[in-house]
Amino acid sequence: MTSNSASDHSLISTSLATPALRSDNWLNVLYLARNWAEASSKTDSIKKDLSAALTKLEEIDLFFAYPGTALLARLKQWLEEDDAKAFLRLAQRISTTIVSQKYHRDVSAWNLEELEDEPVNRLPQALTHIKNKPYFEVLSVVPHAQSRWQHIQEEARGVRRPEDEFIYQTVIVGNAPDALTAILINPDISAVVLYEGFAAHAANENPLLDVFNTVIDLSASDDEILTLRLAQAIKKIRPELDIYLLSDRNIEALAGKPECHFINRIFYQMEEPLELHLSILEGIRNRYKTPFFDNLKRYAQRPIATFHALPIARGKSVFTSNWISDMGEFYGPNLFLAESSATTGGLDSLLEPTGNIKEAQALAAKAFGADHSFFVTNGTSTSNKMVLQALLAPGDIVILDRNCHKSHHYGCVLAGAQPYYVEAFPLAQYSMYGAVPLRTIKTALLKLKAQGELDRVKMVDLTNCTFDGHVYDTRRVMEECLAIKPDLVFLWDEAWFGFAHWSPLLRQRTAMGAAAVLTESLKQPAALKAWEDQQKKLGNAPDDKTLLNTRLVPDPRAVRLRVYQTNSVHKSMSALRQGSIVLVRDVDFEHVEAQFHEAVFTHASTSPNLQIIASLDVARRQMQLEGYGLVSNAVQISLEIRKQVNSHPVISRYFKVLDSSEMIPSAYRPSGITCYNSHDISWDKAAQAIKEDEFMLDPTRMTLFCGHAGFDGTTFKNILADKFNIQLNKTSRNSVLLQSNINNTRSDIALLIRVLVEIALDLDNKITENANDYKKAFRLKVRELVEDLPELPDFSRFDDRYREKPKADTLHGDIRRAFYDAYKESECEYIPLDDPEIDKRLKSGPVLVSANFVIPYPPGFPIMVPGQVITQGIVDFMRKLDVKEIHGFNKNLGLKLLKRTAGKDKKK
Ligand SMILES: *Cc1c(COP(=O)(O)O)cnc(C)c1O
Repeated sequence: MTSNSASDHSLISTSLATPALRSDNWLNVLYLARNWAEASSKTDSIKKDLSAALTKLEEIDLFFAYPGTALLARLKQWLEEDDAKAFLRLAQRISTTIVSQKYHRDVSAWNLEELEDEPVNRLPQALTHIKNKPYFEVLSVVPHAQSRWQHIQEEARGVRRPEDEFIYQTVIVGNAPDALTAILINPDISAVVLYEGFAAHAANENPLLDVFNTVIDLSASDDEILTLRLAQAIKKIRPELDIYLLSDRNIEALAGKPECHFINRIFYQMEEPLELHLSILEGIRNRYKTPFFDNLKRYAQRPIATFHALPIARGKSVFTSNWISDMGEFYGPNLFLAESSATTGGLDSLLEPTGNIKEAQALAAKAFGADHSFFVTNGTSTSNKMVLQALLAPGDIVILDRNCHKSHHYGCVLAGAQPYYVEAFPLAQYSMYGAVPLRTIKTALLKLKAQGELDRVKMVDLTNCTFDGHVYDTRRVMEECLAIKPDLVFLWDEAWFGFAHWSPLLRQRTAMGAAAVLTESLKQPAALKAWEDQQKKLGNAPDDKTLLNTRLVPDPRAVRLRVYQTNSVHKSMSALRQGSIVLVRDVDFEHVEAQFHEAVFTHASTSPNLQIIASLDVARRQMQLEGYGLVSNAVQISLEIRKQVNSHPVISRYFKVLDSSEMIPSAYRPSGITCYNSHDISWDKAAQAIKEDEFMLDPTRMTLFCGHAGFDGTTFKNILADKFNIQLNKTSRNSVLLQSNINNTRSDIALLIRVLVEIALDLDNKITENANDYKKAFRLKVRELVEDLPELPDFSRFDDRYREKPKADTLHGDIRRAFYDAYKESECEYIPLDDPEIDKRLKSGPVLVSANFVIPYPPGFPIMVPGQVITQGIVDFMRKLDVKEIHGFNKNLGLKLLKRTAGKDKKK
């Protein structure tokens, strides 16, 4: 498929989140219909516009069950019969039904006429009053002539039964590319039925599919291969979908093929439609079930007397109290009925799960594309410490992003592992860091190799995506590192990025997504060939420069693929605060399982919060059933905010959402992609960026630059919170971070834009109304925020006493020893920042060695770690720093330093 000109008439090609666009276009039809009904003249031109608008919509409406051919035909009939009133009535019904998604809940939405008794969506009589059955759509890919499609849909409706827990409608397409378009643009589709014999090609090409052409192969010599390839392609785009195959050949033989693991069940074409119906419902039920939550609800309903230590359980101490009953009213009885400290009554134990928690974890592992998953009720802060402790022993070296979350630094202290800090590329003009270039990581590994210490390196630990949205090429990082050391463990801190699994574009760059691809590709003969070719080319002893400049591939026979991902489910999905999960794809997991459990026992509370566990279970259910649509929507909202802010005539005078070109230096962006623009996105370029760029930007994380408005990040954050009820949490010196997530609606965009306009107009007024002095002060303030920025200090080095080979060209050090040396008060000293003693010692020694972590917020990474040598750059940065919150630093006392004598007695 080739196409780089996304025609602006095509709705398909413009957006991943077509439902929102579809709503807009239906509202446009409604608007035109009103004009038509009210117009006394010029009705011809309105009718022409209406006809064009309907034709444009038809192109995507065919991928949605609602409004369906019958209602659409009726609408067109009114247009042809020149009945403006009837047209308006129906257009009104359809558009409000689409915008409100009423067809999800209410079968009467499908009636041909408002007054007609018989709904198109015929339900058995007994059921018509039940409106709240969860609704989904089934995609059927068929070889039949279009004239038969309605019959197929009706047949599917005919097998509905009153006892069905879910209700669905069928969407029909006739070929493979249309099938992919349908699952991309219609998030309601939850299952796919492939009728063997469907066509290989579509009448119209969809440029959106180009984005996936590296992962999709629909070329096929016969029907069977095409069917299997389509099934595989569907799973690559939306792995959660169930796929059923209807075939009229020897299905027993087909079922035995390894490629068939993509398919839930194979039916003989002639078989009972009821069997298919029941299988479809069962597939949904398997995703819908939440073993722990279901059981907790049952538990809450049972009469239980408790004699364990948790007075709040059952709520009697609350509801009967004179003084705290408002808590009971506020939370409602269920919270208390669902509390228990027992692991009996089928509640299972998080620390030693054997029942429904084990089952819930298995479902989560499958949903996230992992082999194992572990629920954590104390946040990813704890998840990270668990993984570090489980896999690292004292003296092991871990390549660690210096800007990572503090749990990793403390994890090293606890485990006794020696961090080898690697530095992200700086974005000094925004006072923030990006992500760690692969070249930096490879350099560290090669230096350690040169020192004969490669065997001590156990792990590479990186943050994906970073707080500001930098996303790694996870596959490439792992491949190149494994080429240097084939048994490295990877810990990807994806605290923010859990939702990415439900985006076919972002998933490729998640830890689990890349691990899945790597597992497959390393099995292929091509992997070994690539490695052999590389060895020939590199020769026996390639120098480091050659290795750094080569896109390395690992020896597939030597690789032990060991990937861990930690994920704050509460940050991007519907889990309660602190709900986190560890995901594992480790071929050697069985050898570390015992250690892993020790680490869980070390860090997990013995009273894990049941509601958090339940919410992890439920968050997984939601993502499995509607995650795709929710994530598409969050992405679409972010694209819209980017476009609105950056093109708004008033807002853009003072504010800007930073684009890829500003957040990622061009060296890491060979595709040349510069921005995300929702309306003329070039899918070719987007595909290339995802495939080739060392870093890409998670579109949902928007850095709003506010320096030109004269606000530092913290001030601006407070204005938004105090005056406008808009909350956000991260700031830099001259920016704030906006995030869109599965919770946002388009109204949120409107609110944000309105507030920014108000603030911008206010600035306009102040500048024009006030005297020149004000302007001067404003300009000075802006310059200070935009130009006069402190250099970000890199990690310097550990003091010699914390390094085994002080002369070596490597950076790791014994952070844990330095940390505990500072426990001896007599071995520490304080020097105020402005004391000239500091300058004297910087010049002529002895070196200043930090006794503890010093972490200013923002930027939120340690400027100093225990045992680190303090440099002029660090002191300059600290002196310029004007933030209030600095963990580990007391302004009155000054820098806490380790004396020269500290730790000497322990040195062997
Ligand atoms: C928030 C965060 C954590 C800690 O997660 P909690 O769930 O808040 O404990 C760890 N790593 C990164 C990158 C984070 O952003």
